[in-house]
Amino acid sequence: MNQLDKIVALCKRRGFVYQAAEIYGGLNGVYDFGPLGTLLKRNIKDAWMQSIFTTQQPMLLVDGAILGNHAMWEASGHTQNFSDPLVDCTNCKRRFRADDIDLDANCPVCGKKAWTEIRQFQLMFQTNLGAATDSSSIAYLRPETAQSIFVQFKNVMSTNRVKIPFGIAQIGKAFRNEITPKQFLFRMREFEQMEMEWFCKPEQVDTFFPLWLKARTAFYDHIGIKKENITLREHESDELSHYSSRTTDIEYTFPFGQKELEGIADRGNFDLTQHSKHSGKDLSVYDDETKQSYIPHVVECSVGVDRLFLALLCDAYTEDTIEGETRTVLKLSPRIAPIKAAFLPLVKKLSEPMHALYKDITAKGYMVEFDESGSVGKRYRRQDEIGTPLCFTYDFESENDTCVTVRNRDTTQQERISIDSIESYLQAALKQ
Ligand code: ATP
Repeated sequence: MNQLDKIVALCKRRGFVYQAAEIYGGLNGVYDFGPLGTLLKRNIKDAWMQSIFTTQQPMLLVDGAILGNHAMWEASGHTQNFSDPLVDCTNCKRRFRADDIDLDANCPVCGKKAWTEIRQFQLMFQTNLGAATDSSSIAYLRPETAQSIFVQFKNVMSTNRVKIPFGIAQIGKAFRNEITPKQFLFRMREFEQMEMEWFCKPEQVDTFFPLWLKARTAFYDHIGIKKENITLREHESDELSHYSSRTTDIEYTFPFGQKELEGIADRGNFDLTQHSKHSGKDLSVYDDETKQSYIPHVVECSVGVDRLFLALLCDAYTEDTIEGETRTVLKLSPRIAPIKAAFLPLVKKLSEPMHALYKDITAKGYMVEFDESGSVGKRYRRQDEIGTPLCFTYDFESENDTCVTVRNRDTTQQERISIDSIESYLQAALKQ
């Protein structure tokens, strides 16, 4: 099994991620997140939110609608430009993204060379609102969260007394009818994005672009991704999106290659200008200093929650040998780990006092687990596999010395600490 297959298997086995509607055969490119996956996703989103808020102020949040009308996506350029090149093999009927394969070579599936012409395939999911199915009822599921930020820019600004420069951030679902969803959570048809649009004066872009790039790179370090797996790559002019004059991708070295994790883009004033033109509403801002109106420019930071989820698992997945036994361990940063600590009575007879400690710490808001079944060694392995940084064990001595043993996931080192210091020990570990 390659590393990605092992991660997919672990995600299913331990309840991180399931195929959507699995009992009906699944849905290609769509996934459900199980209990641990939901916690991990929540921690990723919290960490992102914290990083966005502490870096540049002021920052405002929105939660936009998923459905958008035709006019909005027409203005943004998506109805015309948001497509991928599609090619079919007429022999085996397989469909490919034309830029994914070598069209001078034979079909990688059937070995014949029988390509159709390249066609553009619209990636937005289209639907109709209400009972009518004519062109006036067409709506789209948003393929990115950014546009609701742009169309509400004026409302947000005027109802919150903020001045340029400021940011609007949003976490939410996005949908793309990807031709070939693949590599698990890397390319999905329904996914979640964390996007931040930083509105500034045109001449400030050169200051803010590198500033945000630096802040976003620091974020990956903060959540424990290994520095050597992160690369910054500036887009060549021929690969820039229709709205961007400059883009730097933060790429991650996945087991299947170095790929985009986050895009930092100078969107200029493209979006606000387009929405101004198409809606007929003035989206310019008055500058008190120059006494002139202008359309703000935007630096965008955009990352997928699910893609980052996968990057974190790839980064953390480790197999090592402890005392002759191979174990699988997710070396997730304690900040991100879904379960922060496990509370284990050495034997079932000692469950009661340990359960009381577990209840105390849960009441204080820590996401911890209590596990009394199986040998303690097996329980350690279970926690290692889901990335729990610490295990506290209550044994026969605990009653007398009011201490527990704490075991570190990565080093497997154990130490004896007083029951009174469990919380401070945990707190210190979560800051690492
Ligand atoms: P790619 O070139 O990989 O298709 P993109 O350049 O189209 O990505 P953007 O439009 O810049 O992607 O989207 C911003 C972020 O949203 C990406 O960096 C990625 O993390 C995430 N993302 C985009 N498409 C998907 C998808 N199909 N599945 C999961 N995450 C995605």
